[in-house]
Amino acid sequence: MDDRLFRSAMGKFATGVTVLTTKADGIVHGMTANAFMSVSLNPKLVMISIGEKARMLPKIQQSQNFVINILSEEQESISRLFAGQSEEKLDVEFDWDNDRPLIKGSLASIFCDVYSEQIAGDHTVFIGEVKELLLNEGKPLLFYSGKYGGLS
Ligand code: FAD
Repeated sequence: MDDRLFRSAMGKFATGVTVLTTKADGIVHGMTANAFMSVSLNPKLVMISIGEKARMLPKIQQSQNFVINILSEEQESISRLFAGQSEEKLDVEFDWDNDRPLIKGSLASIFCDVYSEQIAGDHTVFIGEVKELLLNEGKPLLFYSGKYGGLS
């Protein structure tokens, strides 16, 4: 099957946008991701999927934890920055909670410890056990067919 056809079909699934953050060797790393889903209520588990070439992969393997920051519609520039698509160098200010970095102004920050890790083709799927949650009001940033959008 053609890669482009596969990508186009997957792009027909509208998603929110997250930035994953973790701290490894004392340095914060962030990465934009929309491969995120809720998995289980008891225990509380979520899932993310990370490409084998992403610098984020060894960082999470080292720290064994990550924060999923669900972006608001005001945070498109943050999404572009952490996807490596930004021309301008933004100075990102992280907030901290129990030594874990989070993105200020996100709709939700979901603090996870790695519960399991599974290689799936050219990605690695992490199941995260949710340890803590922070919530804010606002409208979500959306991603559909390779473009950003909002609810209105
Ligand atoms: P890099 O490419 O090195 O970093 C990404 C960018 O973040 C760089 O510009 C870097 O300067 C910046 N950055 C990192 N840490 C900091 C910091 N502390 N302060 C300031 N800037 C920093 N890929 C996946 O594997 N899974 C997905 O689910 C996924 N979903 C995506 C959804 C969308 C909407 C988009 C646009 C991209 C998605 N990607 C996904 C692609 C992924 O975001 C990029 O390939 C990304 O560049 C990979 O990041 P990296 O860890 O290799 O780090």
